[in-house]
Amino acid sequence: MKSPIRTLVVVLGDQLDLEAVAFDGFDPAHDLVWMAEVSEESTHVWSGKQRIALFLSAMRHFAQALRETGRPLHYVQLDEPGNRGSLAAELQAALARYAPQRVVMTVPGDWRVWRALEAVVHGAGLTLELREDRHFFTTVREFAAHAKGRKSLRLEYFYRELRQRHDVLMDDGKPAGGRWNFDADNREAFGPAGPGTLPARATFAWDDITREVIALVETRFADHPGTLASFAWPVTRAQALTALRRFVDERLPLFGRYEDALWPGEPWLYHSQLSAALNLKLLNAREVVQAAAAAYRDGRAPLQSVEGFIRQILGWREYVRGIYWTQMPGYLERNALDAQQELPDWYWTGQTDMACLRDAITQTLEHGYAHHIQRLMVTGLFALMFGVRPQLVHEWYLSVYVDAVEWVELPNTLGMSQFGDGGLMASKPYVATGKYIQRMGGPCGSCRYDPAQRTGDRACPYTTLYWDFLLQHEQAMLKNARMALQAKNVARLGAEERGLIRARAAAIRSGEVTRPG
Ligand SMILES: Cc1cc2nc3c(=O)[nH]c(=O)nc-3n(C[C@H](O)[C@H](O)[C@H](O)COP(=O)(O)OP(=O)(O)OC[C@H]3O[C@@H](n4cnc5c(N)ncnc54)[C@H](O)[C@@H]3O)c2cc1C
Ligand code: SF4
Repeated sequence: MKSPIRTLVVVLGDQLDLEAVAFDGFDPAHDLVWMAEVSEESTHVWSGKQRIALFLSAMRHFAQALRETGRPLHYVQLDEPGNRGSLAAELQAALARYAPQRVVMTVPGDWRVWRALEAVVHGAGLTLELREDRHFFTTVREFAAHAKGRKSLRLEYFYRELRQRHDVLMDDGKPAGGRWNFDADNREAFGPAGPGTLPARATFAWDDITREVIALVETRFADHPGTLASFAWPVTRAQALTALRRFVDERLPLFGRYEDALWPGEPWLYHSQLSAALNLKLLNAREVVQAAAAAYRDGRAPLQSVEGFIRQILGWREYVRGIYWTQMPGYLERNALDAQQELPDWYWTGQTDMACLRDAITQTLEHGYAHHIQRLMVTGLFALMFGVRPQLVHEWYLSVYVDAVEWVELPNTLGMSQFGDGGLMASKPYVATGKYIQRMGGPCGSCRYDPAQRTGDRACPYTTLYWDFLLQHEQAMLKNARMALQAKNVARLGAEERGLIRARAAAIRSGEVTRPG
């Protein structure tokens, strides 16, 4: 490689796209790609083994693809002697070695990483040229313009704007099927007979690169959460495309109907399992939305499912990104409900006698995956009503899921799930009793607790904590129109019942009630 380099293109582990905007104008004769595996990215939170292995394997496969396309690459491996341990330190060394005229990258997905890299580039007397990511339908600037002057932010209006602007599921300027939202047709549970035969998970066998990475993670991060035996995530673009095709053919038709359902021992149900491939940029959100819309147009999937699925990507995914970048860095510290409890230890092991939590956490540690309702209404709901400090909940979610990147994880956890932003992201706290979990197919039948009871020895901890949450936040809830009914119910409770609820909730928080399962 001739020196000095004209452009150093920085590529992070969640920017694995040969067509990324950072490569626009790339000239192999003058430019160089820079990538680094560093321990800090696996230790700044106690990253799960599945998550670390996915990032490293996908990065190494991407490095191989870059070499095959003839793009010069400076790649630092985690196990290389002299690895400096952080992105900032490695980039600083590369800038000193190659003295590039400019440094270019696609906007990163993490405030912390952006600040650290920018400081290093400035330190070298250069500017970090950030390019807008083509993987998203909107820019942060467009989101800010949408948000400006609105008292509250709600997904629905933003999503409708995007449907129109990008002509997704539109017929002559009107929403396909005459409605914007098919939520009312979705959200079914499976019923007592369960889901029956489900499509098999799309799995991808380990090749030499993945085998090497798995061995590295097992040695270097032996004490990190989770296991690797089931690792089968797509790690290349070709595999991600296969996963997308399999989802559209096999799961999309029933996605909407069962998107909120739970079933013990069934982690995947009709979910796409595409979040990690999307977040690592092995897939482009536009092609995923297009594939789903095409299935509706060709009569391969009903509108209720396709709209439900597209709403998650064109709607929620874009929306949370806008929230993250317009609210950081202060967002990270928000704690509107002043929750101060520690995260119970069993979140890291799954060893609890609450069957729904044991299921969701065990599966999370095994696969680095749980579907949305498990995250929101099982692990998230419990932490919210237990009163865990939102920052600790955030660290847990960022650690354990293969798709966890801060721009998408933080608003979902701190905002949607923990109400830490006081209602910016969600119009009310998502609180519910154990009966919600039972209704959606949770394993209450095999649990030692009873979701219908709020006090007494068999009271389901969710049910007790729900009432305790309402008691604790009674005044605040009275001011929230969407919580009015719940607030009214709590107002009817007599002093004795209030005392019993509070005592049982205290016993749950002290660990006296729930115990290892
Ligand atoms: C507390 C909490 C933490 C979360 N953390 C993450 C995270 O770190 N990374 C992440 O990608 N998603 C996160 N989500 C959103 C959602 O739970 C996951 O995207 C989804 O479960 C991934 O599984 P899937 O690919 O099978 O999704 P599907 O159910 O098949 O949904 C399709 C796609 O829609 C997108 N999507 C769905 N819901 C959301 C949402 N609420 N926000 C943004 N995108 C969404 C994802 O890209 C997903 O792949 C979180 C949700 C909660 C409640
Ligand atoms: S009874 Fe309560 S703790 Fe047990 S599975 Fe049902 S909701 Fe979960």
